[in-house]
Amino acid sequence: MHHLGGCKGQSLKNIGWAFLLNLSFTIIEIVGGLLTQSVAVLSDAVHDAGDTISLGFAYFLEKKAAGGPTAQFSYGMKRLSLLSSVISGVVITLGSAIVLWEAIPRIWDPGEPKGAGMMGLAVLGIAMNGFAALRLKHGATQNEKVLTWHLLEDALGWASVLVGGALVYFFKWNWIDPLLAVLISLWIVRNVLGLLFKSISLFLQATPDPEQKVQFTKALEKVEGLQSFHDLHLWSLDGESHVLSVHLVTSLRDGPLLKLKNHVREISTSILGHVHTTIEIEYPGEDCPDNCDVSGHQL
Ligand SMILES: [Zn+2]
Ligand SMILES: [Zn+2]
Ligand SMILES: [Zn+2]
Repeated sequence: MHHLGGCKGQSLKNIGWAFLLNLSFTIIEIVGGLLTQSVAVLSDAVHDAGDTISLGFAYFLEKKAAGGPTAQFSYGMKRLSLLSSVISGVVITLGSAIVLWEAIPRIWDPGEPKGAGMMGLAVLGIAMNGFAALRLKHGATQNEKVLTWHLLEDALGWASVLVGGALVYFFKWNWIDPLLAVLISLWIVRNVLGLLFKSISLFLQATPDPEQKVQFTKALEKVEGLQSFHDLHLWSLDGESHVLSVHLVTSLRDGPLLKLKNHVREISTSILGHVHTTIEIEYPGEDCPDNCDVSGHQL
């Protein structure tokens, strides 16, 4: 992905900028939300706090990913992105729960949110997210592309606060503020929960795609010269780079054995894509201490 050193440094700089912008803006939002007594602004602040955490990790990841594996971290730093989505997912979910707790009773008793302040913060929010998205727009890395779309979505969220602020300011529709907060929070939680569960299950080394594993098993069953296989493990570092290990039982030797092994490797890349494959060869009758799993296949 990173062919040019210059491109790499630029992407790092862009993400660093987006991080600093988000961090300062999150602080402004929290203070502004409390001053204007607007729960809608606070609901967006929670979301942006989560974004700030993600961007911080993304910066660190982009920086470390260049180095690749080290002696201590032999798989590299890929799982950092999982850690990032778990932490920001938990922060966003808890924050949104607090906002919902505050906002729901206010629909009937909205207090006095300050419409002018809401509009001011919303304009700032649209400008900040729009500016950060523009900076990342020309980025080449997957990280940057995902972030760009995300920032544009956030600008849309602020547009709804702008409209809400105007309704409060001009028509005294104060209830629109808590209602917006509830809608924004529910939308945020809905988006984040799926990602959170996915990341946690990848952390627990779940098979990234059960369908793929079935496909791979079926393909193995058709391999000529293979007597059986077992101890098949398929998990994923970050949802994209997978790790596969399997024990193959065969009586083939030398050339034919190498051919069999290469064939299995070809199958694994064609079905699973980018995958780190470890193959153990066993002869029939050999005692295997690992042969205690559910994937034992006598062919
Ligand atoms: Zn966001
Ligand atoms: Zn290897
Ligand atoms: Zn074995």
